[in-house]
Amino acid sequence: MGSNIPLTICPYCGYHMDAATHSQQTKAEPEPGDLSVCMGCTGVLVFTDSLELRVIADAEWKELPEELKKEITRGIQAVKTVKRMGYRTS
Ligand SMILES: [Zn+2]
Repeated sequence: MGSNIPLTICPYCGYHMDAATHSQQTKAEPEPGDLSVCMGCTGVLVFTDSLELRVIADAEWKELPEELKKEITRGIQAVKTVKRMGYRTS
């Protein structure tokens, strides 16, 4: 049970994340090069070879396929929606 994914810290805002908390993906374990969205600040992140998170470079973002960019943008919107709802109920 569980995974070997280390606890990661968002390089944008310092938010502590369990990297397996992927809202958009069915697979629980990310692979190097996978993209993620910070649940704290909705920054776009990339998994490194050691499955830590780093900020995506502008050049990298520009080279992503349009479909993937749309998917990530949807993910950002989803996080924002969840955060809004969370704040409302607390
Ligand atoms: Zn963040």
